[in-house]
Amino acid sequence: MSKPRAAEWFDQPEEATGEPGLRFRCTMCGNCCTGPEGYVLVSDEEVVALAKRFEMTPGEFIDRYTHMTTPGRSLVEKQTEHGRDCVFLDRETFPGKAVCGVYEDRPAQCRTWPFWKSVLVSRRSWEMFRRRCPGMGTGPRYSPVQIRVMRGVVEM
Ligand code: SF4
Repeated sequence: MSKPRAAEWFDQPEEATGEPGLRFRCTMCGNCCTGPEGYVLVSDEEVVALAKRFEMTPGEFIDRYTHMTTPGRSLVEKQTEHGRDCVFLDRETFPGKAVCGVYEDRPAQCRTWPFWKSVLVSRRSWEMFRRRCPGMGTGPRYSPVQIRVMRGVVEM
């Protein structure tokens, strides 16, 4: 028999609905894709998919859109009035919104936000990150199982 899993803070039922988990819906504010210098890690598989999207070879994509950082290969950033935007952040197509220009092929780091280990460490941490991400705590509910699965995808 497997050992029962220890309860975590997001297993607690939500006051309004009595259901456990966390809510999230991106408002397309772009806050998570800009700011001070950072990184958006890309795996070899993600590079291949992104290169295909731009009809480039993986080598061409790597040269043009990535650089090496301490934690690994990252997409490059561009300096804007908002800060250092991810190179693929699109602030033009929908005025007042910031959308991902490679949404279907975005890296796992972006797909799993805000269900990262560093964010989920405690309710306090979640609330702290919420100050910068207005999508956290709104929208559809993610179950504790979904949250655990996404938390396990990247080391963030
Ligand atoms: S900070 Fe949150 S709401 Fe804003 S773009 Fe990022 S995920 Fe969406």
